[in-house]
Amino acid sequence: MGHARIDVLQRAARQGRYALPHMLGGTIEMVVAQIKAAEDCDSPLALGFAPEVFPMVPLEHSLSMIVNAAQHARVPVATQLEHGRDFDTIMRAIRLGVSSVMFDGSDLPFEENVAQTREIVRVAHAFGVAVEAELGCVGGSAVRTTGEKESFFTEPEHVVEFVARTGVDTLAISFGNVHGHYRGRPCLDLERVRRISELVDIPLVMHGGSGLSAEDYRRVIESGISNIHFYTAIASGVWPHLTKMAGAARATPLYHEMVGWTVDHFYREAVHVIDMLGSAGRASTL
Ligand SMILES: [Zn+2]
Repeated sequence: MGHARIDVLQRAARQGRYALPHMLGGTIEMVVAQIKAAEDCDSPLALGFAPEVFPMVPLEHSLSMIVNAAQHARVPVATQLEHGRDFDTIMRAIRLGVSSVMFDGSDLPFEENVAQTREIVRVAHAFGVAVEAELGCVGGSAVRTTGEKESFFTEPEHVVEFVARTGVDTLAISFGNVHGHYRGRPCLDLERVRRISELVDIPLVMHGGSGLSAEDYRRVIESGISNIHFYTAIASGVWPHLTKMAGAARATPLYHEMVGWTVDHFYREAVHVIDMLGSAGRASTL
């Protein structure tokens, strides 16, 4: 229990036919709520932190916070720098003690993505840190609505070569998933996921897990995904919840009351995610 490697938790999830819930650990409210939910549900958990949040919360504060929280958790918790795009940021994350880093070279040409990913893997593995890469491109953004990246799907025939040449531990793939809100009904190419999962042995990751139905998640997991990222749908619910609570309060709420309401919101949402991904009751089997 405590701090765990993400690839180890994902391999167990793949074998047990469930998915590891991957939540953003951007603030202390989110971290406290999501770890408590995982402990109460006996679920493993992954806590991530992404560069999009750096302007509000510095990397040095956030990663130390999630690593410390993971070390004290009563269930296995993996920690990850998500979407690292340069060598320096990834080295800072490793120094702060995360168990996994993601190098996102998805907007690079294939050969350049291979070369940079391989370099990150070489250093990260020397420190016992797992590496996730991205092949194809999962577009959209969790925090911006303009200037979004365009998606392009992962080509199964590129995956085998990419994994063999880089030595990555887990891989984020693009099959119709997008970051942030989906425009219209999501159209997921699950046959593509199935083909990729048959071609390589490493666990596969889905970014942009917000807003699908429980049935969609079940089908995504059956196709071979073992880690699903959540943020946008849950975060969108914070403001309606806070205004409802503030409306029912007798006096102007103090800040710590709002912190408590926020924790309650993230807790409830995390329990719901854990339930949908089938990871409840699995921590004690690891
Ligand atoms: Zn992402």
